[in-house]
Amino acid sequence: MSQRFPSNPFEDVQPSEFNKYTKKHASEHFLDENFRKIGWEVFEPFTDTGIDRIIRKKICPNNHTKYDDVTNNIKKCECGEPLKTITRFLQIKTRKLDTKKNAKNLELLKYRYLGYTLESADFRTDPRHVFVFYSDNTTKTQQDVHIIPIADYLQFFIDNDIPNANGNSPANTQFAVRSFREGQGKDNFLFYKPDNTWVYNPQGRSKKDASGNIVGKISNEIPFNDWLNEKGLEKISNHVIENDMITLQDTITTQKLQLFYRFTKGRSNTITHENVQTIRTHFQENQLVENYSETLQQQREATIVTLQQLLEDEPELKESIKKYLIQFKEMRNKLEI
Ligand SMILES: [Zn+2]
Repeated sequence: MSQRFPSNPFEDVQPSEFNKYTKKHASEHFLDENFRKIGWEVFEPFTDTGIDRIIRKKICPNNHTKYDDVTNNIKKCECGEPLKTITRFLQIKTRKLDTKKNAKNLELLKYRYLGYTLESADFRTDPRHVFVFYSDNTTKTQQDVHIIPIADYLQFFIDNDIPNANGNSPANTQFAVRSFREGQGKDNFLFYKPDNTWVYNPQGRSKKDASGNIVGKISNEIPFNDWLNEKGLEKISNHVIENDMITLQDTITTQKLQLFYRFTKGRSNTITHENVQTIRTHFQENQLVENYSETLQQQREATIVTLQQLLEDEPELKESIKKYLIQFKEMRNKLEI
């Protein structure tokens, strides 16, 4: 029988013993060792580009390779095909499970959450991008990891985009401008339950039972176990993404257009219902369109022309602006201003 994934590779210390200053490195090493054990090569980018690890593994192009097959020294699959390497870019969020303050109901039920924040820049239009939510203290000795390809993550929010009585859906909560741009709107909706399963956005209130004791009740919650541990590994350990790269990129673009450009007024008392409608309509009508990159290039070229005219007698400023615009590669030959 294969070993549980993930499991602690370090004999002398439990992952939950690391404090918040050492947790990030300890957790990333924990995951590195777990991936290496089943045949992945693990690389750490030199600079922080929003990707924490790049992992590569040799897989049968006909997907005969199992997620825990160690393929480092194998050249050909039993079906005769040479193995081909796949690459995944991991964005890792490590958190300690915590009890939610101001949520008596969930506390009574012993639900604990894994809080994480994702910003718009974290949603890359690359199907090989994978979110990794790692819990180092699911129990004292058990760690859990959700391994979620970006297209799956976005689709989860589209599938569950059903607003509740307050007009909030998980997609609104995660992607609407209020929390999405402010940065401090932490996403504290992913919960671990005492029955060893995970759910997203549990809703309910505590109530008195027949004996008069206050007990927790759940009226609604969304199961979130499809990407847990071995299941998540299976989803990234095949050639599905490589075989369908262009289609999947288009899918991610469509998903992003569907989920972004939202607005909720949050707890504000000053924004009226009409304001909300106006802002929403504005967002919907001003979405990025498919020829965005051409439009952007035209806009930058127009900016250069304007600057050339305005800065006729300012050579130093002109030089300085050249340095600023050099980062846009399509501009490099047009910087003779
Ligand atoms: Zn094969």
